Amino acid sequence: MTRGLLWLSLFATAAVAADADLILYNGKILTVDAAFSIREALAVKSGRITAVGTTAEILRAQRGARTRAIDLRGRTVLPGLIDSHLHPLEAGLSEFREPLPPLTSFAAVQDYIRAQARKTPKGQWIVVPRTFPTRLSELRMPTREVLDVTEDHPVLFDASYVVVVNSAALRLSGITRDTPNPPHGEILRDERGEPNGILRNAQSLLKGLKPAAAFNEQEKLAALEKILRLYQQAGLTTIGDGGATPEEIALYEKLKAAGRLPLRVVMTWWVNIARPAEELLAEIRSRPWRTNSGDEWLKFGAFKVNFDGGMTIGTAYQRVPYGEFGRQLYGKTNPDDRGQLFAAPEKYLAVFRAARDRGWSLSAHTQGGGAVDLFLDIMETLDRERPIAPTRSHLIHASFQSPEAIGRMKRLGVTADVQAAWLYYDAPALEKVFGYAGLRYFFPLRSYLDAGVRVAGGSDHMIGYDKNRAVNPYNPFHGLWVSITRKTNRGGVLYPEERVSREEALKTYTIYAAWRLFAEKDLGSIEPGKLADLLVIDRDYLSCPEDDIPAIEPVMVIQNGRIVFEK
Ligand SMILES: [Zn+2]
Repeated sequence: MTRGLLWLSLFATAAVAADADLILYNGKILTVDAAFSIREALAVKSGRITAVGTTAEILRAQRGARTRAIDLRGRTVLPGLIDSHLHPLEAGLSEFREPLPPLTSFAAVQDYIRAQARKTPKGQWIVVPRTFPTRLSELRMPTREVLDVTEDHPVLFDASYVVVVNSAALRLSGITRDTPNPPHGEILRDERGEPNGILRNAQSLLKGLKPAAAFNEQEKLAALEKILRLYQQAGLTTIGDGGATPEEIALYEKLKAAGRLPLRVVMTWWVNIARPAEELLAEIRSRPWRTNSGDEWLKFGAFKVNFDGGMTIGTAYQRVPYGEFGRQLYGKTNPDDRGQLFAAPEKYLAVFRAARDRGWSLSAHTQGGGAVDLFLDIMETLDRERPIAPTRSHLIHASFQSPEAIGRMKRLGVTADVQAAWLYYDAPALEKVFGYAGLRYFFPLRSYLDAGVRVAGGSDHMIGYDKNRAVNPYNPFHGLWVSITRKTNRGGVLYPEERVSREEALKTYTIYAAWRLFAEKDLGSIEPGKLADLLVIDRDYLSCPEDDIPAIEPVMVIQNGRIVFEK
């Protein structure tokens, strides 16, 4: 380089950089760059990170007259965290009208019913919000006796595909020992042949059950904005919506147009696989959407369908039967049952092929091992037509993994959305169903990373506002802690050989998640040129006692270079 050019480039750097909007200095900045470098200071201008380095360097080269410089006094800074899969609208509406109590035992469920009965006119339905038997201390699906704390009200306990009703509800709906099962549904019965209150895919038999009070559009927008702000205060600066319908997509667009979208959202377009194939194919081909259409605030991620049900209710499609304990936990009648696949493999293949041809990354709710294996079969078929790896297609949950399936993922370039916190909540119950050995590859983070599969962390938050008590709590530090410790809520440790380091866990909530969302050039690490989404926390993530990690609190959240939350 000639002397003149060197002079010119130094001058240019100084002239552009010396008036940063914001400088953070005297910190411990975990950049999550390729070398996992730790720096003291960073500078931000026009929403992007312009420099990282030592406090002296950054203050000398980046500080201008208008710069706001913040002394971190040794505090830790992380890239803004990314939860790759949650359900904001459902969660936002869940407590929009009134707060919900945590329902973790039969006693808590009964207290909830009694409280509702006092303010609900006689004869009207009481609905217990969605609760899973794996999360109840009894580890048992309730039967009607548990819900019989009111004689005057029909009661419904909602475990999604399975519901439980009380005796008053059975009477009101005329369901007796002589009522035949509806098509594809089942009325479960006790030893005497009487309905025990558990109904599987048989909700249509219930009389007078009105859908939950409808919300108008203004309420939905307010609920969505509210929950997105709570996510941001918990340290999330980008979220993946785990399954948006056209109505929800329109709500996000309205929120953004009104300047009310507080953080970055990557939407997954979800379609109901139960609809006729021709209708689905026509809709996929006619919608203007595809992966990455949108901008850095609101864009599309993947296309999604559901392959199977849930492990919390015994409908995940497994490689092995649910066995005897499935009777107690899920109210199953057939111990050989392996769960439920929602459509035929050919239908999934046709729908996925159409979505891929339209430019979509492909994804599917796949919880049981049987569903995981089928998804990979279909990816292999599509991969023979055209390499699937560039689409960054992924399994959602993949709770029950296997070394074979992980090997296939690596070969295909397929990744996964994982919810490590579920092992904390659900492993004790699932161990009774499948045995300890049956959980050897339950959310096996170490196996994924050792195989070279980058997985994205997340919560699948769906109900409740409190980040630690919601159904699928969304506190990202709890998810990180479970990835690191594999501790369960009953004091055990599930296969410690699957633990990952604090650095690796952090990558699943930052750079790996960004990659999954096609956003790694802008997000997921603290490097010059990336968007300034940052999080200052109240203790040192890398060196605090391990069991303090879930209690880490954000003290400052910076979104696009602006301080949006400060404690
Ligand atoms: Zn979900």
